[in-house]
Amino acid sequence: MSKVMFFNLPGASGHINPTVGLVTELIAKGEEVIYYAGEDSRAKFTDLGVEFRTYDKWFQYHHNPEVGKDILTMAVAELNMMDACIDDLIKIAREEEIDYIIYDACCIWAKYLAESLGIPGINSLTTVVSSPWIPFSDLGMGAHVSKILLTGAPRIIPWTRKLLINVLGRSNVTYKGLFYHIFDVFACVGDLNIVFNTPEYQPFVDKLEGNFHFVGASIPDQRDEIDEEFLSIGKKPLVYVSLGTLHNDSLAFFKNCIEALKDSDYEVIMSIGNTVKLEDLGLLPDNIKAYPRVPQLHILKHASAFVTHGGMNSLNEGLYFGVPVIVCPQQFEQAFNGRRLQKMGIAKTLANATPSASKIKKGVEAVINDPEMKERTKAYGQVLKAAGGYKRAAELIIDYTKKNEAPSRTVVKKANAVS
Ligand code: UDP
Repeated sequence: MSKVMFFNLPGASGHINPTVGLVTELIAKGEEVIYYAGEDSRAKFTDLGVEFRTYDKWFQYHHNPEVGKDILTMAVAELNMMDACIDDLIKIAREEEIDYIIYDACCIWAKYLAESLGIPGINSLTTVVSSPWIPFSDLGMGAHVSKILLTGAPRIIPWTRKLLINVLGRSNVTYKGLFYHIFDVFACVGDLNIVFNTPEYQPFVDKLEGNFHFVGASIPDQRDEIDEEFLSIGKKPLVYVSLGTLHNDSLAFFKNCIEALKDSDYEVIMSIGNTVKLEDLGLLPDNIKAYPRVPQLHILKHASAFVTHGGMNSLNEGLYFGVPVIVCPQQFEQAFNGRRLQKMGIAKTLANATPSASKIKKGVEAVINDPEMKERTKAYGQVLKAAGGYKRAAELIIDYTKKNEAPSRTVVKKANAVS
């Protein structure tokens, strides 16, 4: 049995959800897991037998649409969090004799924590892997990244360099130059890299440098509690609408969906989040129901089409169950995801964050009435399943950490086994 510290980003459901199955599996295999994230995720993990901790004594962070909109804002936030927590975490992980670290790709402090202690650092990636090649695969992304780098980067380069030299010096990690470390802010490549996605999806996959494994979608059977009212869904073709957990404040978007799908032959379920209120939607037509949050995996099992913002998890979850997606991106990364899947022939992407009711209606009808897209979507669902998901991820991690145990840990464990 090994002791593992898992680090994730407070408030980032899209980064946290795929790890629930992974942690369940690690525990089933006898690992002891300490999980750091925000208070909002505690309930997801404590029942699994995890020791759950927050970052509260070092920083208050809750993932939010503003940081998600701009890669540099996110980079600065990550670096500040690292500066605040890494000294104490090094002490804690050393005292608690942690064997290895797993971290979400946005938790740069955890990569350097593993390096500082000389133990394996394993990267958990729930989006496309950020690589210098991504902008070359997609014109829109290329333009977005270039603009941000040209206008914003010069302002933060001196600060970033100084901070990295300082933090890495304190942590006993060799500083290898800004150009090297800057990629840690985006991809955070570890000794082993588990990508909850497919090589088919990753642009220029052969250019990735490092030990990468694509395990597809992470879909545990029991992730969400299912209220009784959701048990009899799907008697008519079901259209599921969601803007995910962060970029979901557009009342106009939900109203347009209602207008598009009212009085149709579809049963419609909308997840509207906590910002838009049910009463703001007015009286709903009989065929449409809206909730602040729904058991998404269960709904998708019964759905015929999914109108989504294009978060990576929502896309993978829909496609895993063979549900064609209509992507209405709310920010640049989701727009990239939509274009990528459209190129693969398994999505219809609407250019606007708030498409008109008639565009939404046409989009839904187009995917529902396209048997070829349905076949391609099913086939891609098989690819997502066959990649092994969280079970394969756990096997890879345990296999890797057994083979790469820090020598000092092996001696301690052998001594414990003898005594
Ligand atoms: N989700 C859910 N119920 C809801 C809305 C979302 O369970 O009503 C889950 C969904 O299954 C997915 C995550 O929240 O795992 C959203 O992640 P995604 O990457 O799609 O979008 P984000 O919220 O990060 O923008």
